[in-house]
Amino acid sequence: QAKRRGGGFAFYSSPDIGNGVSTITLESALNRALEREEFILHYQPQFETQSGRLIGMEALLRWQHPELGLIAPNDFIPLAEVTGLIVPIGRWVMEEATRQAVEWSQLFPDLIMAVNLSARQFGQQDLIEQVRVVLEKTNLRPQQLELELTESMLMHAEEATDILKRLKDLGVRLAVDDFGTGYSNLAYLKHFPIDTLKIDQSFIQNLTKNGSADSRDRALLSAIINLAQALNLTVTAEGVEHELQLTFLTEEACDVLQGYLLKRPQPRELMSLWLEELKK
Ligand code: C2E
Ligand code: CA
Ligand code: CA
Ligand code: CA
Repeated sequence: QAKRRGGGFAFYSSPDIGNGVSTITLESALNRALEREEFILHYQPQFETQSGRLIGMEALLRWQHPELGLIAPNDFIPLAEVTGLIVPIGRWVMEEATRQAVEWSQLFPDLIMAVNLSARQFGQQDLIEQVRVVLEKTNLRPQQLELELTESMLMHAEEATDILKRLKDLGVRLAVDDFGTGYSNLAYLKHFPIDTLKIDQSFIQNLTKNGSADSRDRALLSAIINLAQALNLTVTAEGVEHELQLTFLTEEACDVLQGYLLKRPQPRELMSLWLEELKK
Protein backbone atom coordinates (compact mmCIF):
# COMPACT_ATOMS: atom_id res chain seq x y z
CA GLN A 1 0.00 0.00 0.00
CA ALA A 2 1.29 3.41 -0.97
CA LYS A 3 2.22 5.35 2.11
CA ARG A 4 3.31 8.92 1.76
CA ARG A 5 6.24 9.12 4.09
CA GLY A 6 8.93 11.73 3.72
CA GLY A 7 6.85 13.36 1.02
CA GLY A 8 5.94 17.01 1.06
CA PHE A 9 4.47 16.98 4.53
CA ALA A 10 7.41 18.03 6.64
CA PHE A 11 5.09 19.40 9.29
CA TYR A 12 3.29 16.08 9.62
CA SER A 13 6.30 13.94 10.24
CA SER A 14 7.67 16.48 12.69
CA PRO A 15 7.98 14.78 16.05
CA ASP A 16 7.14 17.93 18.01
CA ILE A 17 3.46 17.76 17.37
CA GLY A 18 2.67 20.29 20.08
CA ASN A 19 4.94 22.86 18.45
CA GLY A 20 2.98 26.04 17.76
CA VAL A 21 3.84 26.66 14.13
CA SER A 22 3.45 23.09 12.85
CA THR A 23 0.14 22.70 14.67
CA ILE A 24 -1.23 25.90 13.21
CA THR A 25 -0.07 24.96 9.72
CA LEU A 26 -1.65 21.57 9.98
CA GLU A 27 -4.79 22.89 11.54
CA SER A 28 -5.40 25.32 8.72
CA ALA A 29 -4.50 22.71 6.11
CA LEU A 30 -6.98 20.23 7.60
CA ASN A 31 -9.58 22.92 8.11
CA ARG A 32 -9.29 23.91 4.49
CA ALA A 33 -9.52 20.28 3.46
CA LEU A 34 -12.76 19.95 5.37
CA GLU A 35 -14.20 23.12 3.84
CA ARG A 36 -13.15 22.14 0.34
CA GLU A 37 -14.46 18.63 0.79
CA GLU A 38 -11.14 17.00 0.10
CA PHE A 39 -11.80 14.03 2.34
CA ILE A 40 -13.07 10.88 0.71
CA LEU A 41 -13.86 7.39 1.86
CA HIS A 42 -12.58 4.16 0.47
CA TYR A 43 -14.45 1.00 1.32
CA GLN A 44 -13.19 -2.50 1.95
CA PRO A 45 -15.52 -5.51 1.88
CA GLN A 46 -15.78 -8.05 4.67
CA PHE A 47 -16.77 -11.61 3.89
CA GLU A 48 -18.35 -14.40 5.86
CA THR A 49 -15.71 -17.13 5.94
CA GLN A 50 -18.06 -20.10 5.74
CA SER A 51 -20.12 -18.94 2.76
CA GLY A 52 -17.84 -16.40 1.12
CA ARG A 53 -20.80 -14.07 1.22
CA LEU A 54 -20.27 -10.30 1.43
CA ILE A 55 -21.50 -9.13 4.81
CA GLY A 56 -19.98 -5.73 5.41
CA MET A 57 -17.76 -2.84 4.41
CA GLU A 58 -15.26 -0.84 6.38
CA ALA A 59 -15.13 2.87 5.62
CA LEU A 60 -11.53 4.09 5.42
CA LEU A 61 -10.71 7.77 5.32
CA ARG A 62 -8.36 9.38 2.80
CA TRP A 63 -7.37 12.93 2.07
CA GLN A 64 -7.49 13.76 -1.60
CA HIS A 65 -4.98 16.59 -1.59
CA PRO A 66 -5.08 18.80 -4.72
CA GLU A 67 -1.29 18.76 -5.13
CA LEU A 68 -0.04 15.82 -3.14
CA GLY A 69 -2.65 13.30 -4.17
CA LEU A 70 -4.12 10.67 -1.93
CA ILE A 71 -2.90 10.84 1.66
CA ALA A 72 -3.28 7.83 3.96
CA PRO A 73 -5.08 8.26 7.29
CA ASN A 74 -2.07 7.39 9.41
CA ASP A 75 -0.36 10.46 7.95
CA PHE A 76 -2.95 12.96 9.11
CA ILE A 77 -5.30 11.44 11.70
CA PRO A 78 -2.82 11.58 14.59
CA LEU A 79 -2.51 15.34 14.13
CA ALA A 80 -6.20 15.76 13.49
CA GLU A 81 -6.61 14.15 16.91
CA VAL A 82 -4.25 16.65 18.51
CA THR A 83 -5.96 19.67 16.99
CA GLY A 84 -9.42 18.31 17.65
CA LEU A 85 -10.30 18.50 13.96
CA ILE A 86 -10.91 14.78 14.03
CA VAL A 87 -14.26 15.61 15.59
CA PRO A 88 -15.82 17.38 12.59
CA ILE A 89 -13.91 15.05 10.23
CA GLY A 90 -15.21 12.04 12.11
CA ARG A 91 -18.73 13.39 12.00
CA TRP A 92 -18.44 13.74 8.24
CA VAL A 93 -17.12 10.16 7.98
CA MET A 94 -20.06 8.80 9.92
CA GLU A 95 -22.61 10.71 7.83
CA GLU A 96 -20.99 9.84 4.53
CA ALA A 97 -20.53 6.15 5.35
CA THR A 98 -24.08 5.88 6.64
CA ARG A 99 -25.52 7.49 3.52
CA GLN A 100 -23.47 5.09 1.42
CA ALA A 101 -24.71 2.14 3.44
CA VAL A 102 -28.29 3.16 2.72
CA GLU A 103 -27.58 3.34 -1.00
CA TRP A 104 -25.85 -0.05 -1.09
CA SER A 105 -28.61 -1.58 1.00
CA GLN A 106 -30.75 -1.50 -2.13
CA LEU A 107 -28.44 -4.20 -3.47
CA PHE A 108 -27.47 -5.87 -0.19
CA PRO A 109 -30.19 -5.20 2.38
CA ASP A 110 -28.27 -6.47 5.41
CA LEU A 111 -24.92 -4.91 4.58
CA ILE A 112 -23.04 -3.74 7.67
CA MET A 113 -21.07 -0.50 7.48
CA ALA A 114 -18.10 -0.36 9.85
CA VAL A 115 -16.89 3.09 10.86
CA ASN A 116 -13.70 3.82 12.80
CA LEU A 117 -14.01 6.12 15.79
CA SER A 118 -11.09 8.08 17.18
CA ALA A 119 -10.38 8.44 20.89
CA ARG A 120 -11.31 12.08 20.71
CA GLN A 121 -14.70 11.28 19.19
CA PHE A 122 -15.31 8.59 21.76
CA GLY A 123 -14.80 11.12 24.52
CA GLN A 124 -17.14 13.62 22.85
CA GLN A 125 -20.20 14.54 24.88
CA ASP A 126 -22.54 14.46 21.92
CA LEU A 127 -21.33 11.22 20.32
CA ILE A 128 -24.48 9.33 21.19
CA GLU A 129 -26.68 12.15 19.97
CA GLN A 130 -24.61 12.31 16.78
CA VAL A 131 -25.11 8.61 16.07
CA ARG A 132 -28.80 8.85 16.89
CA VAL A 133 -29.28 11.80 14.52
CA VAL A 134 -27.36 10.20 11.65
CA LEU A 135 -29.46 7.05 11.92
CA GLU A 136 -32.63 9.10 12.05
CA LYS A 137 -31.64 11.29 9.10
CA THR A 138 -30.58 8.44 6.85
CA ASN A 139 -32.99 5.75 8.03
CA LEU A 140 -30.20 3.17 8.13
CA ARG A 141 -31.19 0.29 10.36
CA PRO A 142 -29.05 0.61 13.49
CA GLN A 143 -27.86 -3.00 13.31
CA GLN A 144 -26.24 -2.12 9.96
CA LEU A 145 -23.89 0.36 11.59
CA GLU A 146 -20.83 -1.01 13.36
CA LEU A 147 -18.58 1.33 15.32
CA GLU A 148 -14.95 0.27 15.62
CA LEU A 149 -13.18 1.22 18.83
CA THR A 150 -9.75 0.29 20.11
CA GLU A 151 -8.93 -1.33 23.42
CA SER A 152 -7.00 1.70 24.61
CA MET A 153 -10.02 3.93 24.00
CA LEU A 154 -12.12 1.62 26.12
CA MET A 155 -9.52 1.56 28.87
CA HIS A 156 -8.86 5.28 28.97
CA ALA A 157 -12.35 6.70 28.73
CA GLU A 158 -13.75 7.38 32.19
CA GLU A 159 -17.28 6.44 31.34
CA ALA A 160 -16.59 3.81 28.68
CA THR A 161 -19.16 1.37 30.04
CA ASP A 162 -21.83 4.03 30.11
CA ILE A 163 -21.03 5.28 26.60
CA LEU A 164 -21.01 1.76 25.18
CA LYS A 165 -24.31 0.91 26.83
CA ARG A 166 -25.93 4.02 25.45
CA LEU A 167 -24.58 3.31 21.97
CA LYS A 168 -25.79 -0.25 22.29
CA ASP A 169 -29.23 1.03 23.30
CA LEU A 170 -29.40 2.74 19.91
CA GLY A 171 -29.04 -0.71 18.36
CA VAL A 172 -25.69 -0.23 16.64
CA ARG A 173 -22.99 -2.90 16.61
CA LEU A 174 -19.75 -2.38 18.51
CA ALA A 175 -16.39 -3.81 17.50
CA VAL A 176 -13.00 -3.81 19.19
CA ASP A 177 -10.44 -2.98 16.52
CA ASP A 178 -6.77 -4.04 16.60
CA PHE A 179 -7.63 -6.63 19.23
CA GLY A 180 -4.64 -8.09 21.03
CA THR A 181 -2.38 -5.06 20.79
CA GLY A 182 -3.80 -3.05 23.66
CA TYR A 183 -4.12 -4.49 27.11
CA SER A 184 -3.53 -7.86 28.63
CA ASN A 185 -6.40 -7.47 31.05
CA LEU A 186 -9.26 -9.07 29.21
CA ALA A 187 -11.82 -8.61 31.98
CA TYR A 188 -13.40 -5.74 30.09
CA LEU A 189 -14.73 -8.16 27.52
CA LYS A 190 -17.10 -9.44 30.15
CA HIS A 191 -18.52 -6.03 31.05
CA PHE A 192 -18.73 -4.23 27.73
CA PRO A 193 -21.60 -4.86 25.30
CA ILE A 194 -19.31 -5.72 22.39
CA ASP A 195 -20.38 -7.63 19.28
CA THR A 196 -17.15 -8.14 17.37
CA LEU A 197 -13.44 -8.63 17.93
CA LYS A 198 -11.23 -7.61 15.04
CA ILE A 199 -7.94 -9.39 15.45
CA ASP A 200 -5.01 -7.10 14.83
CA GLN A 201 -3.35 -7.55 11.44
CA SER A 202 0.01 -8.34 13.04
CA PHE A 203 -1.31 -11.71 14.24
CA ILE A 204 -2.40 -12.59 10.72
CA GLN A 205 0.86 -11.38 9.20
CA ASN A 206 2.94 -13.40 11.64
CA LEU A 207 1.34 -16.53 10.22
CA THR A 208 3.35 -16.20 7.05
CA LYS A 209 6.45 -14.39 8.22
CA ASN A 210 9.62 -16.02 6.91
CA GLY A 211 7.53 -18.19 4.70
CA SER A 212 6.60 -20.56 7.46
CA ALA A 213 3.85 -20.60 10.01
CA ASP A 214 5.33 -20.60 13.48
CA SER A 215 3.36 -22.98 15.66
CA ARG A 216 3.19 -20.43 18.47
CA ASP A 217 1.70 -17.84 16.14
CA ARG A 218 -0.88 -20.35 15.05
CA ALA A 219 -1.64 -21.24 18.66
CA LEU A 220 -2.04 -17.58 19.59
CA LEU A 221 -4.39 -16.86 16.73
CA SER A 222 -6.37 -19.98 17.40
CA ALA A 223 -6.68 -19.01 21.08
CA ILE A 224 -7.99 -15.55 20.21
CA ILE A 225 -10.59 -17.05 17.88
CA ASN A 226 -11.66 -19.53 20.55
CA LEU A 227 -11.85 -16.77 23.14
CA ALA A 228 -14.13 -14.71 20.93
CA GLN A 229 -16.34 -17.68 20.21
CA ALA A 230 -16.56 -18.68 23.87
CA LEU A 231 -17.79 -15.16 24.60
CA ASN A 232 -20.23 -15.35 21.72
CA LEU A 233 -18.57 -12.58 19.80
CA THR A 234 -18.14 -12.38 16.07
CA VAL A 235 -14.46 -12.63 15.24
CA THR A 236 -12.99 -10.84 12.23
CA ALA A 237 -9.52 -11.26 10.78
CA GLU A 238 -8.18 -8.35 8.80
CA GLY A 239 -5.05 -8.03 6.71
CA VAL A 240 -5.59 -11.36 4.98
CA GLU A 241 -3.11 -11.31 2.10
CA HIS A 242 -2.10 -14.92 1.47
CA GLU A 243 -3.83 -18.19 0.71
CA LEU A 244 -2.08 -19.78 3.66
CA GLN A 245 -3.70 -17.29 6.00
CA LEU A 246 -7.08 -17.84 4.41
CA THR A 247 -6.78 -21.60 4.79
CA PHE A 248 -5.75 -21.40 8.42
CA LEU A 249 -8.48 -18.90 9.34
CA THR A 250 -11.07 -21.03 7.57
CA GLU A 251 -9.91 -24.14 9.43
CA GLU A 252 -10.08 -22.25 12.71
CA ALA A 253 -13.59 -21.08 11.84
CA CYS A 254 -12.84 -17.38 12.10
CA ASP A 255 -16.20 -15.78 11.28
CA VAL A 256 -15.33 -12.88 9.01
CA LEU A 257 -12.38 -12.12 6.72
CA GLN A 258 -11.08 -8.85 5.33
CA GLY A 259 -7.90 -8.23 3.38
CA TYR A 260 -6.14 -7.54 0.11
CA LEU A 261 -6.42 -11.18 -0.93
CA LEU A 262 -10.19 -10.88 -0.95
CA LYS A 263 -10.63 -7.25 -1.96
CA ARG A 264 -8.64 -4.07 -1.64
CA PRO A 265 -10.21 -0.87 -0.35
CA GLN A 266 -11.62 1.16 -3.23
CA PRO A 267 -13.45 4.44 -3.72
CA ARG A 268 -17.24 4.54 -3.76
CA GLU A 269 -17.64 4.54 -7.55
CA LEU A 270 -15.53 1.44 -8.16
CA MET A 271 -17.10 -0.34 -5.22
CA SER A 272 -20.59 0.41 -6.57
CA LEU A 273 -19.69 -1.18 -9.90
CA TRP A 274 -18.25 -4.20 -8.14
CA LEU A 275 -21.37 -4.56 -5.99
CA GLU A 276 -23.61 -4.43 -9.04
CA GLU A 277 -21.56 -7.18 -10.68
CA LEU A 278 -21.62 -9.24 -7.50
CA LYS A 279 -25.39 -8.92 -7.25
CA LYS A 280 -25.92 -10.34 -10.77
P1 C2E B 1 -7.55 -0.01 10.73
O1 C2E B 1 -8.86 0.47 11.26
O2 C2E B 1 -6.90 -1.12 11.46
O3 C2E B 1 -7.81 -0.34 9.21
C1 C2E B 1 -7.20 -1.37 8.50
C2 C2E B 1 -6.06 -0.87 7.64
O4 C2E B 1 -5.46 -1.97 6.98
C3 C2E B 1 -6.50 0.05 6.53
O5 C2E B 1 -5.44 0.96 6.30
C4 C2E B 1 -6.62 -0.89 5.33
O6 C2E B 1 -6.54 -0.26 4.09
C5 C2E B 1 -5.47 -1.80 5.58
N1 C2E B 1 -5.62 -3.12 4.99
C6 C2E B 1 -6.73 -3.75 4.59
N2 C2E B 1 -6.45 -4.99 4.12
C7 C2E B 1 -5.11 -5.15 4.23
C8 C2E B 1 -4.21 -6.21 3.90
O7 C2E B 1 -4.58 -7.28 3.42
N3 C2E B 1 -2.90 -5.98 4.16
C9 C2E B 1 -2.44 -4.83 4.70
N4 C2E B 1 -1.15 -4.69 4.92
N5 C2E B 1 -3.27 -3.80 5.03
C10 C2E B 1 -4.58 -3.96 4.79
P2 C2E B 1 -5.73 2.50 6.09
O8 C2E B 1 -6.95 2.69 5.25
O9 C2E B 1 -4.46 3.15 5.66
O10 C2E B 1 -6.10 2.99 7.54
C11 C2E B 1 -5.14 3.00 8.57
C12 C2E B 1 -5.76 3.33 9.89
O11 C2E B 1 -6.28 4.66 9.91
C13 C2E B 1 -6.95 2.46 10.24
O12 C2E B 1 -6.51 1.22 10.70
C14 C2E B 1 -7.64 3.31 11.28
O13 C2E B 1 -7.03 3.14 12.55
C15 C2E B 1 -7.37 4.69 10.79
N6 C2E B 1 -8.58 5.20 10.08
C16 C2E B 1 -8.98 4.98 8.81
N7 C2E B 1 -10.13 5.63 8.54
C17 C2E B 1 -10.47 6.24 9.69
C18 C2E B 1 -11.58 7.09 10.07
O14 C2E B 1 -12.52 7.37 9.31
N8 C2E B 1 -11.58 7.57 11.35
C19 C2E B 1 -10.58 7.27 12.24
N9 C2E B 1 -10.66 7.78 13.48
N10 C2E B 1 -9.55 6.48 11.91
C20 C2E B 1 -9.49 5.97 10.66
CA1 CA C 1 -10.74 -0.43 11.70
CA1 CA D 1 -7.51 -2.87 12.70
CA1 CA E 1 -5.76 0.80 13.78
